[in-house]
Amino acid sequence: MTQKLVVANWKMNILLHEAVALLESVNIGSLHKSLVICPSFIYIPTLVDAFKKLDFGAQDCSANDLGAYTGEVAAAMLYEIGCKYVIIGHSERRISCGEDNQTVGRKLVKALESKITPVICIGESLEVRNQGSTLEHLFKQLEEIGISRNKKFVIAYEPIWAIGSGVTPSVDEVKAIFNKIKGAYPYLQLLYGGSVGPENADEFFGIDVLDGLLVGGAGLSAQKLNQILS
Ligand code: PEP
Repeated sequence: MTQKLVVANWKMNILLHEAVALLESVNIGSLHKSLVICPSFIYIPTLVDAFKKLDFGAQDCSANDLGAYTGEVAAAMLYEIGCKYVIIGHSERRISCGEDNQTVGRKLVKALESKITPVICIGESLEVRNQGSTLEHLFKQLEEIGISRNKKFVIAYEPIWAIGSGVTPSVDEVKAIFNKIKGAYPYLQLLYGGSVGPENADEFFGIDVLDGLLVGGAGLSAQKLNQILS
């Protein structure tokens, strides 16, 4: 990745007209970083058509091929509507939909088969952090998802306790974790996510082994996005 990547996960927020207005206020012409917007599935075709200079991603994909899976969206469908990325294994899906590492691994395979870049989320709970087992937990996740040590994947490290909480690990902690991960998986592209906004984005961008950021709340404000992307 030459330019740092900023992935904005909109989750189940904002209506379509608000999404259009938001993106019209993003300084798309003068971006210093690569921006990927991950809206609700149903907005993707409209937004892909309206904002040709932006890249779009989905927030999830099915672990299955096309078939009888009510309510699911296949990676092949996402490719056809212009998705370049898909977030896989976000902690909210792991918690609310019971997704485990094996399921995340199957989704990863489906994304790759459909030529979509997966953004694979890993991260520890506060309990794991307090036990001092963060690295062990992250390495177990990478192993069980099936991340190869000699392939290029985009991994988003998102401590669960940092998401939407206003609390983050220190930059030094993230740096140390990334260095350990890179030591074992040298080809991974590493993003940090969890309570990043204009006030702290530059500190994280200062980490030499960091390839980008995954933002939630801050991605719902054009002003904040413009500041993070400047
Ligand atoms: C997220 O949910 O992936 C996230 C990073 O959220 P926030 O930036 O709001 O903490």
